[in-house]
Amino acid sequence: MAAQEKTFYLETFGCQMNVHDSEKVVGTLISQGYRQVPTVQEAGLVLYNTCSIRDKAEQKVFHRLADYKKLQAQGKRFGVLGCVAQQEGEKIFERAPHVSLVCGSASYRNLPQMLAQLDAADQKLAHTGLSSDAASFSSAAPSLVPAISQGKSSTLVRITGLDDRETDKCFETEFTARTNPHRGYITIIEGCDKFCAYCVVPFTRGKERSRTSDSVLAEAREMANLGYTEIQLLGQNVNSYHDLAGKRTFAELLIAIAEVPGVRRVRFTTSHPRDFGKDIVEAIDSTPTLCDHVHLPVQSGSSRLLDAMQRLYNRDQYLERISWIKSARREISITTDVIVGFPGETEADFEETLSLLDEVGYDGVFAFKYSPRPNTPAIKLEDAIPDSEKSRRLAFLLEKQRAIQRARYQKHLGQHLEVMVEGKNEMRKQWVGRTSQNKTLNFTAPDGSDLESGGYVPVRVITVFPNSLLGEMVV
Ligand code: SAM
Ligand code: SF4
Repeated sequence: MAAQEKTFYLETFGCQMNVHDSEKVVGTLISQGYRQVPTVQEAGLVLYNTCSIRDKAEQKVFHRLADYKKLQAQGKRFGVLGCVAQQEGEKIFERAPHVSLVCGSASYRNLPQMLAQLDAADQKLAHTGLSSDAASFSSAAPSLVPAISQGKSSTLVRITGLDDRETDKCFETEFTARTNPHRGYITIIEGCDKFCAYCVVPFTRGKERSRTSDSVLAEAREMANLGYTEIQLLGQNVNSYHDLAGKRTFAELLIAIAEVPGVRRVRFTTSHPRDFGKDIVEAIDSTPTLCDHVHLPVQSGSSRLLDAMQRLYNRDQYLERISWIKSARREISITTDVIVGFPGETEADFEETLSLLDEVGYDGVFAFKYSPRPNTPAIKLEDAIPDSEKSRRLAFLLEKQRAIQRARYQKHLGQHLEVMVEGKNEMRKQWVGRTSQNKTLNFTAPDGSDLESGGYVPVRVITVFPNSLLGEMVV
């Protein structure tokens, strides 16, 4: 293929980790001379970075592949990346014969070699093992190359703080094309060893492995030098982080990153309750640049069900962690994930989840209907709760949470909050901002104001809704 014909389209499904993985894939492809294009029609290579956390997410990618199957006749190549690729491997070729590339979430560093092989011969390639044959990384200074991502400009960054020892068995790529010029993600821990009964992640992301805190810090410093002011640390269980070199605990790493000159906000997600220590709350309390928000998935309010889910904590232990967060000097916003309809969930179990929502008073809840997943321990249990009942429980829970949020958000009325400007809603003539607590705060500014995305401004809250706030800029 001639250099100018090397174009690719990438669609991402799933969580923030997948979004960040896509930044690594885009960075890798651009470094190989590919150009990202905003539509399937313009692309020579069509890639889907997939999610398999629930069946619906997995089916989406096969529907997408079916939609564009006929374009194979135009010589386009199709590739499946990420969790579905890791889970299904070569079986994808049987289900979607027009796919020629399958690359699991731990194999992105092999993409250059895989693409070269594909270019050399018409064949099908699958790589779903852990990356062990990647080339060593350059230690050159960070380079900035403009790139195009879905029509938006992005920044291609060479990551220099990584060392071969850890990256040999780890998950970083040499290049990352960051799509947001102000907020940057850093994966600090990959995989999961917890094996919750319902969850496919240990099978799609592999064993838990952390980077050294020195390499994380080096990347954070590079990002700050490039103008990023908000850093989000990512991991399936970010707080299970274990510094390979034994230098810093997770809480100490949070503080170290928050103290990097130029960094104004540090977030981290997702925290596992079993590994959530008081030291994290103390770090937030002592460090204003650490955002006052903790996402602490509970999954169920019933200890009986938590045991069946193999969650490694019970209701009381979870509530103990909540009490630590609530006793902080700063008011820390708490959000969670809940699964309804796990096998054996009785009405009484569900009631316990509802009562937990009241007891904690979450600022946000992500709730899902249980979806049986391949390889997981729960797949052997009968999925006996009808979908209609799961839907009823889900709707009831979300309605209840809406009422809780409507009441909770009242406390923001009249407050002056600092927001990071994310953009402007031209139709409503409102700016869109995000608070440190991760709440959306839409606001008006005096006529003629030309606020920059990524800037920080003070806003007075004048109206509250269950999922957002409305305010006016303080001038
Ligand atoms: N590691 C995090 C933890 O332990 O809380 C969760 C990460 S998981 C990628 C994100 C969320 O997906 C989970 O918190 C859970 O609520 C949901 N989830 C995972 N497996 C699911 C399943 N089989 N059915 C429905 N929801 C599921
Ligand atoms: Fe999945 Fe449980 Fe691991 Fe979270 S802790 S990623 S829910 S197995």
